[in-house]
Amino acid sequence: MDKDNKEVFRDSIATIDKSGKRNFIFPKKPKGKLYNYRTIVSWFLLGFLLAAPFIKIKGNQFLLFNILERKFHIFGFPFWPQDFHLLVISMLVSVVFVILFTVVFGRIFCGWVCPQTIFMEMVFRKVEYLIEGDRSKQIKLDKQEWNAEKIRKRVFKWFMFFIISFVISNVFLAYIIGSDKVLSYITDGPLEHLSTLAYLLAFTGVFYFVFAWFREQVCIIVCPYGRLQGVLLDNKSINVAYDYVRGEGTSGRKKLRKDENRDELGHGDCIDCKQCVQVCPTGIDIRNGTQLECINCTACIDACDAIMDRSGFDKGLIRYASEDNIDKKEKFKFNARLIAYSTILTILIGVLITMLFLRNDIEATILRLPGQTFQSTETTIKNVYTVKLINKTTEDLENLDLKLISHPGKIDLIGGKINLVKQGLKEGTLFIEIDKKDLNSSKEKLKVGVYSNGKLIESTTTNFTGPLIIK
Ligand code: SF4
Ligand code: SF4
Repeated sequence: MDKDNKEVFRDSIATIDKSGKRNFIFPKKPKGKLYNYRTIVSWFLLGFLLAAPFIKIKGNQFLLFNILERKFHIFGFPFWPQDFHLLVISMLVSVVFVILFTVVFGRIFCGWVCPQTIFMEMVFRKVEYLIEGDRSKQIKLDKQEWNAEKIRKRVFKWFMFFIISFVISNVFLAYIIGSDKVLSYITDGPLEHLSTLAYLLAFTGVFYFVFAWFREQVCIIVCPYGRLQGVLLDNKSINVAYDYVRGEGTSGRKKLRKDENRDELGHGDCIDCKQCVQVCPTGIDIRNGTQLECINCTACIDACDAIMDRSGFDKGLIRYASEDNIDKKEKFKFNARLIAYSTILTILIGVLITMLFLRNDIEATILRLPGQTFQSTETTIKNVYTVKLINKTTEDLENLDLKLISHPGKIDLIGGKINLVKQGLKEGTLFIEIDKKDLNSSKEKLKVGVYSNGKLIESTTTNFTGPLIIK
């Protein structure tokens, strides 16, 4: 085959036929060492994903992304919109980490960690195998006319998919509005919270659509990470790869025949059994080389290893390997790109850790009341302010008081000292009064300290205005 013809597979994707219709994939049930490891990893990750919103640390949900009320908990630490810069830096760290990880290890994340793959391959697909059987049975069922058996199996599968999607939606909602609310809504009865039920059913519909029908199209068409692969991978990146040098030999792959000396004939170790294609959940032939559709699920490694074993060849015809490893037998080396990404990642992690440690426990904002001018007595000037205090800690703060640090003077907090519950917010009014003799200009910057039980826990600045002072 000439080079152009070899690349023909890149003109289309395996899941769309020539007329543009969806080619539904019926992958063979994977078996093997890597699949077993993957199953263990995914049970652990599924457990974490489902349990995380229900775990509490000092009363805080372990993971919470309440966009509506702008409350975020990460590993039990509460974050506020005022901590947005930390969120941006953590996102940057994650992006650089993902880039670095991909440059070195290809799309291992997709096959082993991504929730889409885990739910699809380890939950929905397993249910499908249980109800409809393995690949050949599924294909047969799909082709056959609608009869009692097909209706029974399909309806049961769809029902199970709906139930699982509904459970995932509840957990998803617990990440958004909090597990306490979700549990209370369940005990109150769904009819008491019809709008939440509507959202829940909408989420269920989306999950059902994704896992029952859209499936691998998420990875191929929707996921931006898959698309980035082309620019992130190089010849040194490790990926699930077919060793074409070994597999093709000098005369190409060929079916195994008894009494045939493959070495003499120059045929490689690939016996063209197509088991690697049949197990692929995205329907590709990995022997064509690295492709956008490959999610590095390793199912083809297990399938090919089993064939190699049975045929008396060494395992590893399909394995984790880089292009240079296959072509030039080169071992993995740190290149300039890896060093640059690693340096950036180290710096960003350092900045993030420093900022986390320097994060204030309390956020204080003191602003002059709009439209109000100063009040003047014979000896003093008085300004009126609004004050907003946010307790970002997991402890209640008592007897909060405000004192002037930069100037001698008095702060009169309306209502007296403040008690602020954990993650609470309080707003109020205060007056600041300063002796005229202690002012140098008509507009001064004041530093104000926030004290809890007499101990300084935070400071902030505000403006103070007065009459024009000529000294
Ligand atoms: S080519 Fe192999 S690793 Fe890639 S998606 Fe298909 S089975 Fe998984
Ligand atoms: S499973 Fe291995 S031997 Fe069989 S077609 Fe794929 S690469 Fe060739």
